[in-house]
Amino acid sequence: MTVMSLADRLARLRETLPPHVKLVAVSKYTTADGIREAYRCGLRDFGENRVPDAIAKQEALSDLPDLVWHGIGTLQTNKARRALSVFSWIHSVDRLKLAQTLDRLVVETGSTPRLLLQVKLAPDPDKEGWEPDQLWADLPALQQCQHLNFVGLMTILPLGLAPTAAQAVFEDVARWRDRLRQHHPYWQNLEWLSMGMSGDYDLAIAAGSNLVRLGTAIFGGRPAIDPTNL
Ligand SMILES: *Cc1c(COP(=O)(O)O)cnc(C)c1O
Repeated sequence: MTVMSLADRLARLRETLPPHVKLVAVSKYTTADGIREAYRCGLRDFGENRVPDAIAKQEALSDLPDLVWHGIGTLQTNKARRALSVFSWIHSVDRLKLAQTLDRLVVETGSTPRLLLQVKLAPDPDKEGWEPDQLWADLPALQQCQHLNFVGLMTILPLGLAPTAAQAVFEDVARWRDRLRQHHPYWQNLEWLSMGMSGDYDLAIAAGSNLVRLGTAIFGGRPAIDPTNL
């Protein structure tokens, strides 16, 4: 079996991604050197799940001036301050308490990251995110968070959904984005749909995703889940 280099994998990947889709390289399974190699191939946006990992890698790569760090993992409220010091984007705002804490910290720290609401539109005991009823109930309180800059919605699908079901959930997220925008001017900047991982990004893009978070497809490692083969 031939092993493709990171540059080869990226070149192939880029052929399949429409130009309007932003690629965030999920670097949680790789080292600072792995990120450096991806940087040489032109990548600038990197996603990390854990704040301490992001801080360590950011320090190791402080000579690279134009890296953009995305927080994509569940964020404990007591790590929110440190998250603001490393992440330019936080995709995983998944509960009211966290939003309110960020609202306060943004004023204190002066950092104004781009934020995404993480939604959960298919039941999944293993994932966080707003379910529709809860999101609807929390909207008025969220809209009181005057200092936050929400730019989109993010979702992670439950494992093992068939392709048609997966695409339907992605389409539902896109409809929620449209609905929120019409609901209140607070949501007028919701332009990003952060959906699609290595195993399902083609379905997500077909449903309107304009930001994919890819780990395995870029860095190898864990086998990607083939959605046609479940
Ligand atoms: C790990 C992770 C990814 C990337 O997963 P792959 O299947 O390796 O592409 C994307 N988003 C989140 C939130 C993750 O935790």
